Amino acid sequence: MSPETPPGPLPGVPLPGVTARALIDTTSDLYITVGPDARITGAAARIDRLWRGPLADLVGREALSVLHPDDRELAASELAAFMFGGEPISGDAEFLGRIIGADGVARWAAIQAGELEPPAEGIVVIARDAHELVSGQPGDAGEARLRALIEHAPSVVEVLDAQGVILWAGPGAEQARGVPRGELVGTSSARFTHPDDADEANAWFRAVAARPGASDRYFGRMIRGDGQVAWVDATITNRLDDPAVRGIVANFHDVTDLVRSRRVSDRLGRVVERTTDLVLVIDPDSGLPVEANPAARSFWGIPPDGDLATVHWGSALTPQAFDIAASEVIPVASERGTWTGELDAVSASGRAVTMSVHVERHTESDGAYAVVARDISERKAFEARLAHEATHDPLTGLPNRALLVDRLEHALARAARSDQQLAVIFCDLDHFKVINDSLGHGAGDVVLRAVAERLVASVRPGDTVARFGGDELVVVCEDLDDPGLAASIADRIGPAIAEPIHVAGAEVFVTVSCGVALSRPGSTIAEEILGDADAAMYRAKATGRARVARFDRSMRDEAVARLDLEGSLRRALDRHEIRVHYQPIVDVASGAIVAVEALARWEHPERGLLAPGEWIGLAEDTGLIVPIGGWILDQACRQVQRGQATLPGLGELEVSVNVSGRQLGQVSFVAEVERVLAVTGLAPSRLGIELTESLLMDDVDRSAATLGALKDLGVQVVVDDFGTGYSSLSYLRRFPVDQLKVDRSFVDGLGTDADDTAIAALIVALARTLGLRSVAEGVETEVQLAEVRRLGVDRAQGYLLGRPQPPERLGDVLAELTTPNERSAPAPPPSAR
Ligand code: C2E
Ligand code: CA
Ligand code: CA
Repeated sequence: MSPETPPGPLPGVPLPGVTARALIDTTSDLYITVGPDARITGAAARIDRLWRGPLADLVGREALSVLHPDDRELAASELAAFMFGGEPISGDAEFLGRIIGADGVARWAAIQAGELEPPAEGIVVIARDAHELVSGQPGDAGEARLRALIEHAPSVVEVLDAQGVILWAGPGAEQARGVPRGELVGTSSARFTHPDDADEANAWFRAVAARPGASDRYFGRMIRGDGQVAWVDATITNRLDDPAVRGIVANFHDVTDLVRSRRVSDRLGRVVERTTDLVLVIDPDSGLPVEANPAARSFWGIPPDGDLATVHWGSALTPQAFDIAASEVIPVASERGTWTGELDAVSASGRAVTMSVHVERHTESDGAYAVVARDISERKAFEARLAHEATHDPLTGLPNRALLVDRLEHALARAARSDQQLAVIFCDLDHFKVINDSLGHGAGDVVLRAVAERLVASVRPGDTVARFGGDELVVVCEDLDDPGLAASIADRIGPAIAEPIHVAGAEVFVTVSCGVALSRPGSTIAEEILGDADAAMYRAKATGRARVARFDRSMRDEAVARLDLEGSLRRALDRHEIRVHYQPIVDVASGAIVAVEALARWEHPERGLLAPGEWIGLAEDTGLIVPIGGWILDQACRQVQRGQATLPGLGELEVSVNVSGRQLGQVSFVAEVERVLAVTGLAPSRLGIELTESLLMDDVDRSAATLGALKDLGVQVVVDDFGTGYSSLSYLRRFPVDQLKVDRSFVDGLGTDADDTAIAALIVALARTLGLRSVAEGVETEVQLAEVRRLGVDRAQGYLLGRPQPPERLGDVLAELTTPNERSAPAPPPSAR
């Protein structure tokens, strides 16, 4: 029939198991399906030339009864061979027989049969009208039959002699061989045999040729006349002693397409065999696998030759995954045909995995479930790690700030709902920068990790401990029956952290300042409670560190005030509110003022004169220290130079200026110093730059370079607050330093505290060894001064010798102090230097 014929419902009785395609392709035939009991189960025909009656009438009849009695035996044997001989569908049975129509007339038909598509059982018989063929042939019915069969057969028929030479070629031969039919006759069929198959093909042919009546089937490659390789399925039958034939009948099909498609499915089969994905087919009724690839077998612990039907599909799932499978996967897969998702499973060897699972239900056929599952545990773990990394601090493993804020907000919402309070403890390590700067960041990391561990250990199991930033750790305490509990938790933290921490064989001691704040009633804003706890922590720092402070309203005011202060500090320089005061530095031996230290003051419009302790930190945090410090340097050099001019008797008065890290970090710093010296005319040797020990250790290489450059200018380098940091001697030697200022904390106990005295003595001895000038700062008492003198300190500074003074008083102070007063007399013996 023409390909244009629209495929549509076929007249007749439905034929389950006959693929629609087969019907559409050859609808001019009569289709009859026959069940295992040999009765007709369905019949259909686009144009019925054979039955000529209602097709439904065929259903239920014995199939053979439709045939002419003479043809029944042949049909029975052909069909039986086909049905029970296990012949593949490509080896369809085919014969010529008469169908007795509804009108009682027998009509010749070429009859073929094929297996039905499972689950339908039985065969489909395709009967094609062969009336013309048969009636057009001369001779008896038997010859006509054979001829019709040959002419009509979809396969190629050739008759060969005992040597394989082609004696006769059927109509399909030309196309199959790729050689004109006329040329075929007289040619040896061996010419078409693929060389690789030649031995086998020859043996097969000779075996059949040797035995009259013998028949054998062969499957191999043929080289067509045009050189193309084709796969053929051939059957040869020895009819040499049949006078009607006198030859070997070869009957073959080109099965190249079939082989190719089978190859593809073989290849797919191999992929399924080798893949690490689990592939299995599960029987819907028993829940037992009916097919499983090696990966699936090994997952279920079934040996390669073991019985599949021993494991239920659910046996590898975790209980939760089993519930999901039962309540979701199966219902969805059977309703919609597929389900895709993730399930947790445990392999026979005990490995817990997450599987990406795809289930497909074969609703068309037996309803079996095909399952493809892939172990995605690694990917899941990776995803989890990414998520963890995004929300956790890599150093301590604690939740990071983002996660803290998130959790805190949820906790605040919960607390607000249940009318409860929660507490935040804000912990900040004291002087952590010093550890980092002097022992290195590696040591700082060790300390932070240890502190984090101890913090976690000292709070309650449910409390959240997070790393807020740098050396700031935050604890969130939920479910506080008693709000006072938070403070007692905070009280446990300090002692836990104060225990020595071992860093590279050394013991390091750290303390922590904690601020505790309770949630404001009804507030769900994380920033608020964090701000309160931070303010309380700030108070703990301000009141001496290593302590716990609880938040109160005044702190909030303070925090607000700090913000205010920042605003006004920004304007202070423009409004000329920053001043420089000078504190004299005395030569211990002579008692004469030899230098002054420039100390910044802020003339606050409302709050009066503010000491740097109240605002230098803020200026450093905001970067305002850079312009302010630059201005102070300029003023100090200018005013000391001018004082020199007005008081020529002063000689070579030196001035020390404090410089903070932010200033030192400026690339232009040294150039700035050089410029100020040039502008003011102060001799470089009379300027001292005071840098704290920890500042120098911040970046040793950079410090060494900057100090070297300052040295080249001829400026003096003074190490301030010496003894409070952790600087090592080797570093000190690397830096071109001129003076060491013994920190006030050691001067404090001079003559009264043995430890302080010993340390001060050591520093002085160290300075002397390194050829540096020593300066004692914060000398308040005669006892201290006597000790300073006894230790051989070069210079001294302190309230006893003179308080910081505004510049307008500088002249007076200097004038007064140039004449050594009674305090420094009688003149001490010259120091050892
Ligand atoms: P510092 O460099 O150690 O300055 C010495 C501090 O000790 C000054 O406090 C001074 O007034 C105080 N002092 C002097 N003698 C005694 C004494 O006998 N007893 C007591 N208790 N204190 C005494 P001040 O002026 O409040 O400065 C504090 C800190 O502020 C300075 O410590 C310095 O680190 C910083 N600072 C001051 N001016 C500047 C500046 O212009 N730039 C920078 N970056 N920092 C500055
Ligand atoms: Ca200083
Ligand atoms: Ca100092």
